Amino acid sequence: MQWSEEALEEINKVPGFVRKMAIKAVESDAKKTGRNEITADDVHKARERYIKFAEKTPEDKNKIHIAVVRCETVSEVCPGIACFRAFNTRQQQFAQYGDNAEMIAFFTCGGCSGRRVSRLVDTLMKYDIDVVHLSSCMLLEGDYPKCPHAQQIKRNIEKKGIRVVEGTHH
Ligand code: SF4
Repeated sequence: MQWSEEALEEINKVPGFVRKMAIKAVESDAKKTGRNEITADDVHKARERYIKFAEKTPEDKNKIHIAVVRCETVSEVCPGIACFRAFNTRQQQFAQYGDNAEMIAFFTCGGCSGRRVSRLVDTLMKYDIDVVHLSSCMLLEGDYPKCPHAQQIKRNIEKKGIRVVEGTHH
């Protein structure tokens, strides 16, 4: 598939985390009409259809952006229902937020010792993350022991100037 220079310029404006998906969508739409060249107009149309929802809006400035990091090991048996329930109903550690809070990410630490967290928080800072919650599964003794790295993970996030809250649904 051939991309015009203008089309490449336009696709490079798309947020990194949806760019690959956007390229596939643009090329798929062009193929359906029997073309093998992508123009800036193709990118504009795809943006309206598939990407615009993911772009920042002026209203985002008034929102509190929240992320949850949780235990990689526990994620094999837990889909995160209690964390989402607590957030959706603004209970427990989420009771402090109003309607302007938005959960923008829910990710695992990547396994001991949780080094993935720092890289992902760097990415989230491009999307104006305000607060990162350490999930309750990292902090409570249960079927799994509590995370021995939780405090280091917390310090690593705080060093970036991001507030950390300990817990989600407890
Ligand atoms: S670093 Fe902590 S949260 Fe991550 S897998 Fe290990 S125990 Fe779980």
